[in-house]
Amino acid sequence: MKTIGLLGGMSWESTATYYQLLNKGVKQKLGGLHSAKIILYSIDFAPLEKLQHAGNWDEAAHFLAEKALRLESAGADFILICTNTMHKVAPYIEEKVSIPLLHIADATAQALITQGIKKVGLLGTAFTMEDDFYKGRLYEKHGLNVLVPNDHDRQIVHQVIYQELCQGKVTEVSKKAFLRIIDDLKAQGAEGVILGCTEIGLLVNQSDTHVSLFDTTQIHADFAVKTALS
Ligand code: GLU
Repeated sequence: MKTIGLLGGMSWESTATYYQLLNKGVKQKLGGLHSAKIILYSIDFAPLEKLQHAGNWDEAAHFLAEKALRLESAGADFILICTNTMHKVAPYIEEKVSIPLLHIADATAQALITQGIKKVGLLGTAFTMEDDFYKGRLYEKHGLNVLVPNDHDRQIVHQVIYQELCQGKVTEVSKKAFLRIIDDLKAQGAEGVILGCTEIGLLVNQSDTHVSLFDTTQIHADFAVKTALS
């Protein structure tokens, strides 16, 4: 079994989910007392969040690449960045390390393509919904058309992620708002919706809606288990 390197803490709420999913995934495949081999570098999210909102992506990239190198020297065979947003700096990290980085958008694209989906809605932070590193990759590398919510709804989603979900708060009001936004994306032609932020699964899941949801945390973790056992 390969050793999984996790760049986590962004936020720790979703890193805890990754830890559970990876261990459950390995146990499901190998049974008994088997569990995942994991090295976790969990950062303090507050200073990184400041760099994000200040647009200081170069410093954020440096910071995470240094942690990725530590995972590599500690013996990780490959790396997961446990957040969609910080994949904005994934190319820089990939340049610095010599082990593979399992890109969350590629894993998600594979899941969508397997389901025959061509047009998909995307929920995530404003960075993920608006910048090109994610939507662009889904379109250019995988041929997927991506719909995002309107300005007002993007603000709601972004606020809920940072002010609530990343701080462990789950409210009915926000859940209702997310389900309404998911329905709107469906009405605009989305054949499914990507939960493109690793904390959204704490708020909504497939049992809440008839719209097909693609939870990036689950998909990324499943992909890592497969890779670790291959
Ligand atoms: N975990 C989130 C994501 O998947 C948001 C937190 C962050 O900015 O990294 O995008």
